[in-house]
Amino acid sequence: MDDLARLSITEASKKLASGEITSLDLVRACKKNIDARNAELNAYLEVFDDIEEQAKEADARRARGESHPLLGIPLAIKDNILIQGRRVSAASKMLENYTASYDATVIKKLKEAGAVFMGRTNLDEFAMGGSTENSAFGPTHNPHDEARVAGGSSGGSASAVAAGMALGALGTDTGGSIREPASFCGIVGLKPTYGAVSRHGLIAMGSSLDQAGPMVRTLEDAQLLFDTIRGRDPFDSTSINLRPTTYDLQPKRIGVPRHLLQKGIDEDVLRSFNASLDTLKAHGAEIVDIELPSAPLALAVYYIIMPAESSTNLARFDGVRYGLSLSGDSLVDDYAKTRAAGFGPEVRRRIMLGTYVLSAGYYDAYYGKATAARAKLREEYDDVLKSVDVIATPTVPSPAFKIGEKSDPLSMYLADIFTVTANLTGHPALSVPITPVMREGKDLPVGIQFTAAHGGEDMLFAAGKMVE
Ligand code: GLN
Repeated sequence: MDDLARLSITEASKKLASGEITSLDLVRACKKNIDARNAELNAYLEVFDDIEEQAKEADARRARGESHPLLGIPLAIKDNILIQGRRVSAASKMLENYTASYDATVIKKLKEAGAVFMGRTNLDEFAMGGSTENSAFGPTHNPHDEARVAGGSSGGSASAVAAGMALGALGTDTGGSIREPASFCGIVGLKPTYGAVSRHGLIAMGSSLDQAGPMVRTLEDAQLLFDTIRGRDPFDSTSINLRPTTYDLQPKRIGVPRHLLQKGIDEDVLRSFNASLDTLKAHGAEIVDIELPSAPLALAVYYIIMPAESSTNLARFDGVRYGLSLSGDSLVDDYAKTRAAGFGPEVRRRIMLGTYVLSAGYYDAYYGKATAARAKLREEYDDVLKSVDVIATPTVPSPAFKIGEKSDPLSMYLADIFTVTANLTGHPALSVPITPVMREGKDLPVGIQFTAAHGGEDMLFAAGKMVE
């Protein structure tokens, strides 16, 4: 392969280990693609100016005998994950000039492994959105068709990996933000089991939903990155140690909720999905029809719980403690001025929605009901996952849409129909590229999503490998 930046992490890692290439070679190859395309794609908000120094340091560590498979591997980091001493904006005016004072736990682990951080990637402001169009710094474009979105909210990370500007990336997923852009850009994306990966040092959106995870080119890479970043962390009381992953599983029964696939899905996406089910069958898996009666409620439940938690988390941006600070005639006026200037329209919409559903008069009608429905949903998924190894659906009902096409927020929310459930239930979910569909003469990526029981990431990887 002539473009080293297109190697999988695992392949690059072997070449690094054998001395065939250096980390500096990899970083330069990625930088070449960044120079060629980042101005158009807007995948990175910032490319770090010390990437070559980081690479040289990794090469020196290898020369001293270190050998972690991520040592010297160039990664892109979503700009809502803290790296000490570097800016972290959440793609918001509120934090435009904010510098992180510590490393997120996932970053700490990647630093120990010796990964090279190429830069900060674009996202929807505070991770709120499904297209990266809500970024305060302009949308990210899809490398497969620049007129289209890269997905969101981790659109910058997906675009960077798909365009060879990094070998892999970290994203975060509150309702699909790793899986949806992975599906739109033709890469693999994993939303781990809730708690499997520490949230310490992630800019919080919905704390009971958020997880960081890998966005990469192969299932093997996803395993590697996941195994590096996961584990119990004293700084995150919701974090857990999962049993070690085993890599020789064979999913036997794959559940498909046909009742959810009756309408609202592009015909060719459904065809591609069905074809990948045939591939799974050819590998010896049995496809089973399953019922998830409460699943049609998931989107409504998510769009109550998520804004409720987001509005609470965003209360900390008061103009005193972090980032932007404007002064008015009184303290309350300081808050109002700062928040009006710092937050974009989607963030303000969600703060208002969240405050509303949590308010004394409406709590029972909205937040209370949503919480009950969430528990029911989880029960149904747990039940079904006793009789099947994984549940399969398309990741998103359509391929990437055009920039500006979904100007109505509700139509944007509908794209999350298959992804939000795993965040509500805490189950791990994975998106893997399947046969692309054609739009206006261009091949556009599509993904299949697998959901497994809690801690069943290895089952997801196994299912993914069958269609990869
Ligand atoms: N698209 C979803 C939303 O807008 C998911 C966001 C996310 O996972 N961060 O809320």
